[in-house]
Amino acid sequence: MNERVIPLVDERTRAKPVRVLRAQAALPPVGDSVQDLLARPLKDLRISVTDRCNFRCSYCMPKEVFNAQYTYLPQKALLSFEEITRLAGIFVALGTEKIRLTGGEPLLRKNLELLVGQLSALKTPSGQSIDLTLTTNGSLLAKKAALLKAAGLNRITVSLDALDDRVFKAMNDVDFPVQDVLDGIEAAKAAGLGLDDDGHFSGIKINMVVKKGTNEQEILPMARFFLNQGLTLRLIEYMDVGSTNGWRMQEVMPSSDVLALLQTEFDLVPLPTAHRGETAKRFGFVNSSGQADSARGEVGLISSVTQAFCGDCSRARLSTEGLLYLCLFASEGHDLKSLIQSNASAAEIAQSVAQLWRKRSDRYSLLRAQDLSLAADPQTPAQGKKRVEMSYIGG
Ligand code: SAM
Ligand code: SF4
Ligand code: SF4
Repeated sequence: MNERVIPLVDERTRAKPVRVLRAQAALPPVGDSVQDLLARPLKDLRISVTDRCNFRCSYCMPKEVFNAQYTYLPQKALLSFEEITRLAGIFVALGTEKIRLTGGEPLLRKNLELLVGQLSALKTPSGQSIDLTLTTNGSLLAKKAALLKAAGLNRITVSLDALDDRVFKAMNDVDFPVQDVLDGIEAAKAAGLGLDDDGHFSGIKINMVVKKGTNEQEILPMARFFLNQGLTLRLIEYMDVGSTNGWRMQEVMPSSDVLALLQTEFDLVPLPTAHRGETAKRFGFVNSSGQADSARGEVGLISSVTQAFCGDCSRARLSTEGLLYLCLFASEGHDLKSLIQSNASAAEIAQSVAQLWRKRSDRYSLLRAQDLSLAADPQTPAQGKKRVEMSYIGG
């Protein structure tokens, strides 16, 4: 690997979770009542814990842009773990049930397991634990898996775009080998991450971005490999997120083609939607009696380009520096950091977040489906402002 891993030190990580839980308790539960203009609830929060990454995936942080001259956020601009947890507690009080830690590469954030420990203590208004997960490129997972599990992480998504080293190294663009990511996945399994009550690893997902002309030949080998382990392989259409990846529709392989390819080798049956707002269309592998067999794993198709799923999108995104984005394709965030650093009470902050969500009408992918020129012009969404990068607000 050519890139140097720069651990991010957060001196403020030893904050006591007590204050967080108190702030949460002070809020009246508001359940499902926080809905946006399209009647979508605020169920899902993605939190970016760093804008840095040790990979340079061409579809996300192309080397030409994210080079030595690129300015990342300074350490002091980052939300502390305590601030993140206080905000997360407020979202949970407003109805959020699922939190995903992301980035950049989240495992570069030093002592991330402390944040995991704090977040895993949050409870929904009805007293349920939240569904806490993390998306990682897997490069540091072998080192971190056991710590994360011990801190309360139950599920994990690992990104891997190919099993062929040559293809994978070209895509991560830092010469990172496949085997190290596979070792990370093995470490996650050994730590019991993603293990369900049936003894299957249904809580481990593998994200593969499919870029036509680059890695579609890896789809079947990836399915063969992960199927045997009973994991979930999610095949993601290459998206026009941000403004730096030079996206072209010709490089998108529609999920319908991906499915057709998989069906040349596997017997797949559609699985019911697990919950509203689910991004993937799920398919199970059938056993010899023709039934979907969870022990054999599943495939999820994420068709953000060809079959937009904005209608049920319940996802908010919190950037590393505390800006709230209401859509992956937004150009502007709303400053929650100033609020959390002011004397505003938890109830006041909750009120502000609820107000922002109630005014939300974002549905970029649906609009792009009607007018592809939106994708060609990354400045379209908000009067000449560039769309935010995925490495900044997370996937
Ligand atoms: N660094 C971590 C990782 O790669 O898993 C977490 C952050 S990354 C931005 C989150 C997810 O977004 C990854 O699975 C990545 O493959 C996906 N992603 C990034 N850019 C994308 C694009 N242009 N189209 C589709 N998915 C993308
Ligand atoms: Fe880094 Fe993840 Fe983006 Fe790849 S997709 S450059 S691993 S943040
Ligand atoms: Fe949600 Fe925006 Fe993606 Fe639509 S385009 S699914 S609103 S994040």
